[in-house]
Amino acid sequence: MESEIRNSEFEITLSTPVQFLKGVGPARAETFAQLGVRTVGDLLEYFPRDWNFMPEPTKIGRIRPNDTVAIVGMVESIDYQSYRRQPLFEALVSDDTGVCRIVWFHGGYLRGQLEPGQVIMASGKATLYKHQLQLTNPKFLLLDEDHPQSAEYFSGGVYPACKGLTSRQIKRVIAPVLDKVADLVPEFYEDDFRKKADLICRKDAFAWIHLPPDEDKLAQARRRLKYDELFLMQLGLALRRYRVQHYSNAVPCDCSEQIDRRIRRRFPFLLTEDQNACIAEIAADMSQSKPMNRLLQGDVGSGKTVVALYAALLAVANKLQVAIMAPTEILADQHFLSIERYLKDSNVNRVLITGGLNGKKRQGVLKAVGSGEIDIVVGTVALLQADIEFQRLGLVIIDEQHKFGVEQRAELRKQTTPHCLVMTATPIPRTLAMTAFGDLDVSVIKHAPPGRGAIVTRWVSRQERQKAYQFIRERLKAKKQVYFVYPRITGVEQAGDVKAATDEWEHLSRKVFPEFTVELLHGQMPSAKKQQIMAEFRRGKIDVLVSTVVVEVGVDVPNATVMVVEGADQFGLAQLHQLRGRIGRSEAKSYCFLFAETDNDTAKSRLDIMTRSNDGFEIAEQDLRLRGPGEMLSTRQHGLPDLKIASIVDDFDLLVMARKNAFEMVSQDSMLTRAEHRNIRRALLAKFGDAIGLADVA
Ligand code: ADP
Ligand code: MG
Repeated sequence: MESEIRNSEFEITLSTPVQFLKGVGPARAETFAQLGVRTVGDLLEYFPRDWNFMPEPTKIGRIRPNDTVAIVGMVESIDYQSYRRQPLFEALVSDDTGVCRIVWFHGGYLRGQLEPGQVIMASGKATLYKHQLQLTNPKFLLLDEDHPQSAEYFSGGVYPACKGLTSRQIKRVIAPVLDKVADLVPEFYEDDFRKKADLICRKDAFAWIHLPPDEDKLAQARRRLKYDELFLMQLGLALRRYRVQHYSNAVPCDCSEQIDRRIRRRFPFLLTEDQNACIAEIAADMSQSKPMNRLLQGDVGSGKTVVALYAALLAVANKLQVAIMAPTEILADQHFLSIERYLKDSNVNRVLITGGLNGKKRQGVLKAVGSGEIDIVVGTVALLQADIEFQRLGLVIIDEQHKFGVEQRAELRKQTTPHCLVMTATPIPRTLAMTAFGDLDVSVIKHAPPGRGAIVTRWVSRQERQKAYQFIRERLKAKKQVYFVYPRITGVEQAGDVKAATDEWEHLSRKVFPEFTVELLHGQMPSAKKQQIMAEFRRGKIDVLVSTVVVEVGVDVPNATVMVVEGADQFGLAQLHQLRGRIGRSEAKSYCFLFAETDNDTAKSRLDIMTRSNDGFEIAEQDLRLRGPGEMLSTRQHGLPDLKIASIVDDFDLLVMARKNAFEMVSQDSMLTRAEHRNIRRALLAKFGDAIGLADVA
């Protein structure tokens, strides 16, 4: 009673707490809060997860066979025929225009529930049975004073519920105020645009998503709300990108023919067409006085490092310093080594900063960086972010491999505005390139350099293990090297069959390959030890390298042509593909053995895909399908809110349209200050806070 008075006394707005709605007291408001619903506006955005439809009731006399209908009528008689093979409960129902027979197979439960004299509403498909109209197994509802005689009762949204709040209860709160509240929803777009884009107005969309009059209107409502969601996300990206491009200055790098020639002389091979195309894009970016913000994408071994080094040398030629950041020490080490190889006898000053670099030595290095003496600094992300001052940092190269750590980019940009090149070996599906990476330009290396042997991948069962060992022995005798990769360092209880690197190293070196040199490498070893083992493996002193996924990234030993992944079902697709990228780096044929016993369907699909495909793009698309975008993005702090209703995979066409329109809008009204953009601007600020820098100017 009290809440009813409230309803009429207070003007409801979108920011009114739900507690002031009829049927919501303090306790229920708490429960709503658990669902993230605090205000009327939140409630409006609490969308059903499914919808039911029941047509408006039809008079029995008007029904044609094969119509899907709802009828309202009085139960004239009932009959339960239990003796049939399929026992059935039958009722005759009439209204003022005719009689309809209703049967429920196995309807014994209806005895005592349905009785002559009751009024019911039933819905289903009408058929003719022995010349009489019949509904078979319809949904039905007893109508009495509590239940309105309306289709609405059955139809409409099914809400994600929780303990203490059913879908129906949620519906009873929102339905009565829906019309009034939806009317308060501001429109984002002008009519012309909406018509052209075939989008219904926003307030109808909100009204219909909760109580759709029919399926077509529901589809329209969903389309509109999905579009808005994608559009706001793309606007956020467009604004962020605009801000980076227009409010920060970078030092432009001149790329004369002479500089180009001098850099290319460093490489002992001709660059591939793809590498050249990427370099052209990078050089064009770096020639601008706004910072480059580019993603260099290419499968493992496709030759990204060379492209990145070109960019680095271009910056150095322009008297700028370069920071190259890797996710792990091993990878930093690897980058440094390849740079050393290419820069032998050059007067470019470069240094590797590791965790082992301490005391005086470290201070000396930091000083040299600070004075501008050092041109290229290589290290892990953590190290380079810590306390290093550059004199004139002009380019940051970030090797993310398959871990996306964007916030780090942003951090670095705060101090200076260097050009930025992010390398990734995980081919990013187009949908992600437009969302999570939507503020970056993208360069792609599609084809690896020539002279790569094929990789054969096999999924090996327990029974075939000995055969595989025998095969590997033959490769070892032919002086090839082998990786054995394990999901973990040491055995843990309950890990069951899954083998661990340390235990297996003993077994392999003593029992399986006693005649060869087998060494262990894992992440918890001291840096120096790791470096030593990697160096020996590189020099061919070690035949079999037993390791955890520390070899996953960056290791480049062309003579290693066999890889065994133990417990392969424990790894994700991207990771398996990364691992496999360590082999196939010479003209010799390579072999990848995935040892796995699993009943898990997803794991099986992953292994199947691996044996079928060696194409990183295809694998990434499949990965996205198996895992869903949420998980793929979860490691990447993109600062964008989750999508509630749209899906970047299923709504790709809408995404493309939203992206185009969003970027166009920002190019015309970069701070969204025009009057017609006021509502959008407000919605953006509510959604992103200041993550996109709109508030700066507000
Ligand atoms: P990525 O960083 O993409 O994994 P790298 O740049 O490390 O790939 O290159 C992989 C291997 O291919 C390296 O051994 C490198 O020397 C070699 N390579 C790169 N570009 C070429 C090229 N254009 N022609 C021949 N070999 C190349
Ligand atoms: Mg590399």
